[in-house]
Amino acid sequence: MSEKIQSLRGMPDILPVDAPLWQFLEQTAAAVLSSYGYAYISTPLLEPTALFTRSIGAATDIIEKEMYSFDDRNGESVSLRPEGTASVVRAMLQHGLLQTPGQKVWYQGPMFRYEKPQRGRSRQFHQIGAEVFGLPGPDIDAELLAMSARLWESLGIAGSVRLELNSLGSPLERQQYRQHLHDWLKQHESDLDDDSRRRLDTNPMRILDSKNPDMQSLIEAAPKLFEHLGDESRQHFEQLTAILDAMQIPWQHNQRLVRGLDYYTHTVFEWVTDELGAQGTVCAGGRYDGLVELHGGPAIPGIGFAMGEERLVALLQQQQEDFSQQPHVYLIIADQSLQQQALVLSEQLRREHPSLRLRANMGGGSMRAQFKRADRSQAQLALILGTDEWAAGEITVKWLRSEQNQVAVPLSQLGNWLQQNLTD
Ligand code: ATP
Ligand code: MG
Repeated sequence: MSEKIQSLRGMPDILPVDAPLWQFLEQTAAAVLSSYGYAYISTPLLEPTALFTRSIGAATDIIEKEMYSFDDRNGESVSLRPEGTASVVRAMLQHGLLQTPGQKVWYQGPMFRYEKPQRGRSRQFHQIGAEVFGLPGPDIDAELLAMSARLWESLGIAGSVRLELNSLGSPLERQQYRQHLHDWLKQHESDLDDDSRRRLDTNPMRILDSKNPDMQSLIEAAPKLFEHLGDESRQHFEQLTAILDAMQIPWQHNQRLVRGLDYYTHTVFEWVTDELGAQGTVCAGGRYDGLVELHGGPAIPGIGFAMGEERLVALLQQQQEDFSQQPHVYLIIADQSLQQQALVLSEQLRREHPSLRLRANMGGGSMRAQFKRADRSQAQLALILGTDEWAAGEITVKWLRSEQNQVAVPLSQLGNWLQQNLTD
């Protein structure tokens, strides 16, 4: 026997047992996003490496150590996408879709980062993301956050997540602060851990994002970007938070929130939960006013977010709610001479009642075996097709989960009967 091949480390399968949760999440997100006017966009998993190195920033985790990059057969450096925003900006520019302001798009799919696999962190993971172009805010910032809040509500996890908000100001304010922070951290260099010391010259702001508990008191004491913001940036933040208050969306000001990617300006935010251990951020995003220009386009502002589907599924899983979709009906074929008729009848029922979940017995078997399968399928009821009933134009209906008596239903009325008697 040959050896079984296993999946790559950090690249999990999504198995049928979990699929209903994923489908619930993705269908709910699609409905909410489209109700706010977002159109779906899908971009390739593989892109030129330069697309990501240009926008994400050289001194970020992603570019430093997480990219899946390789030369294709033609010698061109290509990369599996580590995130969605760069590709969306590329596609919008490439197809001339940014002429009219207010374009709203959303995407969904796998992303790839070479990280240390652990709970809530894998090498292939999935994001649902939204992006808006051409609107400088803060109205759209507020609407985007309201949309995410609406999604948590629709998913039934609103009580498990909270919103953390900050402003990174304009690129100039950010740059000045960066220098200031760098100088301050330099004076405390002996208190920095190895990771942070390495980042001191390349990306000092990312040090504020460190998860190392030993670093927290130093981070707490470090100068805050928010205190260095000018009037305009402060106003943007105050207008945004005033709208959030009016909409009764609770938020917390987290002055240490800086986000990992280089392209953020002004509004940045994270939705976090305390229920998933260390990897508690389920959705993160912000404003990226310079990004379109960085990609060779006009100066068009943008804002967006990406949520981690694995972490949201984990939250849904804790709710113990049953998302699985059992069949309504299991069709038992009492006599194998009726196999053809059973399939014809099944198709007829499916055509008339598209929402009916019908499993017809396949592969024959004794009545006992078929009843066992019917029971295991969790169907609400069994339809039993036998030769006598067929001759009389009837079918026997037997409830599998309740004590009701079995009945004979005329085939001509079966569709209606099911509609009236089945739940959900
Ligand atoms: P972290 O600081 O935890 O590495 P990040 O800043 O790299 O997060 P983003 O790039 O903002 O994360 O991605 C948005 C969301 O996608 C995250 O909040 C998280 O929910 C999810 N996510 C990111 N990386 C992973 C991963 N490796 N595995 C699972 N989910 C992830
Ligand atoms: Mg990361």
